[in-house]
Amino acid sequence: MNPQKIIISACLLGDDVKYDGTNNSILNDPLIQKLIELDMLIKICPEVEGGLPIPRPKAEIIGNKVQNIQKIDVTQQFLLGAQKICEIAQKNSVKIAILKSKSPSCGKDFVYDGSFSKVLINGDGLSVRALKKMGVKVFSEKELKKVEKILFK
Ligand code: SF4
Repeated sequence: MNPQKIIISACLLGDDVKYDGTNNSILNDPLIQKLIELDMLIKICPEVEGGLPIPRPKAEIIGNKVQNIQKIDVTQQFLLGAQKICEIAQKNSVKIAILKSKSPSCGKDFVYDGSFSKVLINGDGLSVRALKKMGVKVFSEKELKKVEKILFK
């Protein structure tokens, strides 16, 4: 059995932690089922860990800050969430994370542009940036085949 631990966005495991109180469950994916059976997953929602409520106003990255749709600066909460996810990664010697695409925390490679009009630009969410800095390989939920290859082939 592979003892390696993998961090995963809590909303991908069906937790209703999204800004609108819903989830992005991928629980029916066979790899996710296998990782659950092997007790390899550690779930976390960095925005909730950073102190934000459920539900909460939608937020997007604007320059070096994160602002919600009510124009309130929530950068500190996002940074705290990023710090918490890194602490968990360090404590559990995590090398791989599976995080939800397009989120201002968990998004990898693409995030919304700050205009709240569903326009994507190149960039990572704040938690992804922090994890990458400590050497964790981050994959989105659309890259599960790559994760499977690394772990089991
Ligand atoms: Fe999901 Fe991450 Fe957003 Fe939390 S911060 S709801 S885990 S995408």
